[in-house]
Amino acid sequence: MHNLFETEITYLKGVGPKKAGLLSKELGIYKYYDLLHYYPFRYVDKSKIHKVREVVSDSAYFQLKGRISNIRTSGEKRTKYLTADFSDNTGTIQLVWFRGITWIKKYLSMEKEYKIFGKPSVFQNRYNFVHPEIEEVVPGQEDVVGERLEGIYSTTEKLKNSGLGSRGIARLMKTLLNIVEPYIPETLPEYIINGHKLLGMKQALINVHFPANVSLIEPARYRLKFEELLLVNLQILYEKAYLKEKVKGHLFENVGENFLNFYNNHLPFELTGAQKRVIKEIRKDMKTGRQMNRLLQGDVGSGKTLVALMSMLIAIDNGYQTALMAPTEILAMQHYKTIKKMLGDMPVKVALLTGSTKAAQRKSLHAELKAGETHILIGTHALIEDAVQFNNLGFVVIDEQHRFGVAQRARLWKKNVIPPHVLVMTATPIPRTLAMTVYGNLDVSKIDELPPGRKPVKTVHLTESKRLQVIGFMRDQIKKGRQIYVVYPLIEESENFDLKNLMEGYEAIVREFPLPDYQVSIVHGKMKPEDKEYEMKRFADGITNIMVSTTVIEVGVDVPNASVMIIENAERFGLSQLHQLRGRVGRGAEQSWCILMSGYKLSNEGRKRLEIMVQTTDGFRIAEEDLKMRGPGDIHGTRQSGLLDFKIANLARDGEIISYTNKLAEKILEEDPKLSLDKNLLLKAGLERLIKDKPDWAKIS
Ligand code: ADP
Ligand code: MG
Repeated sequence: MHNLFETEITYLKGVGPKKAGLLSKELGIYKYYDLLHYYPFRYVDKSKIHKVREVVSDSAYFQLKGRISNIRTSGEKRTKYLTADFSDNTGTIQLVWFRGITWIKKYLSMEKEYKIFGKPSVFQNRYNFVHPEIEEVVPGQEDVVGERLEGIYSTTEKLKNSGLGSRGIARLMKTLLNIVEPYIPETLPEYIINGHKLLGMKQALINVHFPANVSLIEPARYRLKFEELLLVNLQILYEKAYLKEKVKGHLFENVGENFLNFYNNHLPFELTGAQKRVIKEIRKDMKTGRQMNRLLQGDVGSGKTLVALMSMLIAIDNGYQTALMAPTEILAMQHYKTIKKMLGDMPVKVALLTGSTKAAQRKSLHAELKAGETHILIGTHALIEDAVQFNNLGFVVIDEQHRFGVAQRARLWKKNVIPPHVLVMTATPIPRTLAMTVYGNLDVSKIDELPPGRKPVKTVHLTESKRLQVIGFMRDQIKKGRQIYVVYPLIEESENFDLKNLMEGYEAIVREFPLPDYQVSIVHGKMKPEDKEYEMKRFADGITNIMVSTTVIEVGVDVPNASVMIIENAERFGLSQLHQLRGRVGRGAEQSWCILMSGYKLSNEGRKRLEIMVQTTDGFRIAEEDLKMRGPGDIHGTRQSGLLDFKIANLARDGEIISYTNKLAEKILEEDPKLSLDKNLLLKAGLERLIKDKPDWAKIS
């Protein structure tokens, strides 16, 4: 039977092949079903037009109608911005744009009337609107959709240009709902709907798209979130149970010669209590005969590498090979060196494999690996390629997990008949709700203690006017023998511009710190790997005083003598990135500093981020704030993992529903582990739909 909801979106009246192509490419909407479940992200009551005088809060949205005057640009280059005065008969308020200035300037006309819509912000004790929605008032042309309470759909520039702005999408939704409404099936079991007083699916969908009044929005959204989160929780718990019961693991019974030799003769310092505890936890997993899937969380500098190495030695002592996968070449290289140095003359063979390993070298490396001669293989993505074959891989460490997806982990599994134990290490503290969902299928170990003698990094936020003092401070530090990082943002869309910015910064620093008294290095993503490596090495060896770079050094680089981290245009970095960068210093016994440089004019969010960084070095607090400010989409590679493309739930805000549905899911699976009871058939169907696009997760038989 043809399923109405599976109809290709191109057949919907008003769509056609061109728009269908765009909808699928831009929003992942292929079928009726996808559109129906594409929800507004907020609602506005556009029946009301406020007066400028009424703008008295920065936590509400306002719609104003008025005229524009006094359009002007200020600032230079990077800090350039556009302002305009917006007035009605009660007052005047400023509008500000930092981007798209040329376009906006052309669009604005003093002759016309406009409606603006947005949330005001506060600047110098006055309200203004930064990047408001703005629309020309054309007399006689009223709202097309007709609803006063309007759902706002997120859309893209390309879609907008094809008439599919938020309004356009709403129009399609109306058409679609008219067709499918009578056929919308219920997707949750009756006992759950009744037990939790949820709206039925049909009511929920109608009201989420076209709420008749405000009081219907929340129940509709709650129902949809509840279902979405219940299914995700079911999926994760199901998978966890599967891993625990079904997946056999290599048995590492003994702590052997290498481990003991290392512990007694090569350990450069006492292990911290936390390191000891975690090694014990890992060791326990390795003795169960089940595959270990463990997440090792430990803030930057907490000493995860050592834990990884000692766990690998256990595997080696039991006759297995091990692999350590890092997200970048620089990091892989660094792990390679650190580990080789720590092992010293021990009879453990370590090899390095990255994208730039030469063909001849690669060949002999492959052969040694296949023959079982290599004990530890360190590398980048290169080591999951099919050509890389082990004799007997037993244990894999993945460093800085947030750069890798679930799919890549799955490929590692296939490197042996019995999948290797997997230890995933991440330096980014993970907020509780996120941990429950993103990593819910992993067991968690935490290193919650830094090695002794570390002083917390002191953080300050400065603007350009303090530049001279900063340079003086850098000279002082260099005189004391310390080294300095200067980091510039590099964001893909404006790569060339950023690169120019970086080069200018580099040249300015070289002018201030000339040869032969000073050595300055530069590293960025566009350099050849061997050049990068050369520069990194000079810095790591203490030859260069200053390392100017982009965020290529963000993750994992370890130079304990570096005591100053200067972050340029710090307002453009996300919180967890800033935290990572700051973690590059404060690794030695000396006092370290993190200097956040920014322009004078900052968005509210930018300012807030910098404030948080100045206030705290607590990674968990920063992670929670990050989650609150950005939403989970961009954090910890949840996007790459493809695991949490939530349609409506929000990990930052829906903590309660997450915990609640997590418990409910536990209860359901306890009673019915296979979801085979009649009353749970709908849940099973929902779960199947959820994993359809995620074959790596499709463990449900
Ligand atoms: P991360 O957890 O960020 O990967 P690393 O493993 O790079 O941290 O360790 C950070 C620094 O701390 C390294 O220089 C390492 O040698 C040092 N270190 C690790 N464990 C200890 C310890 N128990 N005592 C003192 N220093 C330690
Ligand atoms: Mg590390």
